[in-house]
Amino acid sequence: MGTQIVQESKRCLQCVNPQCVKGCPVGTPIPEMISMLLEGQIRKAGEMLFRNNPLSVICSLVCPHESFCEGHCILGHKNKPVRISSMEHYISDYYLRFMDLLPEKRIAQKVGVIGAGPAGITVAFLLALRGYDITIYESKDKIGGVLRYGIPDFRLPKTLLDRLEEHLIRMGVIIRPNTLIGKRLTLEDLFRDGFEALFIGTGVWTPHRLDIKGESLGHVHYALDYLRNPEVYHLGERVCVIGAGNTAMDAARSCLRRGAREVTVLYRKDKQYIPARDVEVEYALIDGVQFLYRARPLEITLHGVQYVKTLEEENAPGQYHDTEETALLSCDTVIIAISQDPCATIPDNSNGLETGIKGLLVTDSRGHTTRKGIFASGDVVTGAKTVVEAVAQSKIVVQAMEEYLEGKIV
Ligand code: FAD
Repeated sequence: MGTQIVQESKRCLQCVNPQCVKGCPVGTPIPEMISMLLEGQIRKAGEMLFRNNPLSVICSLVCPHESFCEGHCILGHKNKPVRISSMEHYISDYYLRFMDLLPEKRIAQKVGVIGAGPAGITVAFLLALRGYDITIYESKDKIGGVLRYGIPDFRLPKTLLDRLEEHLIRMGVIIRPNTLIGKRLTLEDLFRDGFEALFIGTGVWTPHRLDIKGESLGHVHYALDYLRNPEVYHLGERVCVIGAGNTAMDAARSCLRRGAREVTVLYRKDKQYIPARDVEVEYALIDGVQFLYRARPLEITLHGVQYVKTLEEENAPGQYHDTEETALLSCDTVIIAISQDPCATIPDNSNGLETGIKGLLVTDSRGHTTRKGIFASGDVVTGAKTVVEAVAQSKIVVQAMEEYLEGKIV
């Protein structure tokens, strides 16, 4: 591993106008990171990475690098791009073991961060580093959001999140787990108790329904529920996963690791339209996941999924219509993975927070919601996206929150 990292680092051309940086939503200073690594300054490189992106170590593992930094590396035009992700991981994993980034001063202003996913962690980390007094409210028992309760262990070891959590605590951040804001405790309670600004990063946790007969049966589950704690499910031998996004791939691969013998992804279009990343589909295939294309589910029964075969419109690529032909995909368990929306708990129980399409929170480009002193970013604003995009937007919001808080000091 070490040698490969050195060899890879030496392949970097140190471009004057680095496209990799432009391709990264958080503008990771990649050439500097590589130079520092080669000059034996790994701690300095690590500090630079975490100051720029508190989730550097996570992004190095789960980012769609082929679309961002590595997809823009000019070596990739003729050869293989530099494996930037491996270098970032090597440095940030090393640095996280003894990260010594601590606030240089203390500011007596309290900020409440609701939701401990990538957006909430970014805001908490960066504001704590500036010296603000931060409390995180998380409805689940641990921090991480989708990183902990969605992405399976075989893609992202949860020990990384534990180490991040330890560091947040060392920085002075208070974490209140198992606390759902919006019901028993509301935004009004937090303002009453002295919080001067609030951040909402609650993500999208309401699974889309298929709205077909059989959806409420006992062997039918939503992917996000299943992925939260796969060990409690009795899957049987054959599983059908409906949907073909990244969540569906995680669920399908997880089922195979949990003892299912046969897992089939059922998708209503053809292979070229699969929304999951190519690399996730490739992994699913090598793990043994099977794919059934051009199939739209009609009904779920105790025996499996009844579906109708579909056909692409001749004059409208990507549009599909039902044929007359129906069939049954036999299975013991059905997992539905067709996207998700935000929960309405907070906006329904507070005044002045406007929501838009599909219940997403309305904000301006700097994360101000429609209520003064309340900011938001991440999936609850944009809909399901990526970790690095949640971090990028949250960094902008941190600046807006600082300006707001500084304006309140006088
Ligand atoms: P979340 O991660 O959803 O975190 C929100 C947090 O808020 C949660 O911890 C939740 O419990 C908490 N919360 C919700 N409501 C309340 C409340 N009322 N009070 C208190 N707490 C609350 N992206 C990638 O870049 N790479 C990947 O490989 C990848 N894989 C994915 C796999 C799956 C299965 C899924 C579902 C998504 C994946 N994504 C991936 C997308 C990525 O994880 C999300 O874009 C990202 O997590 C969004 O961060 P967030 O902080 O906005 O929300």
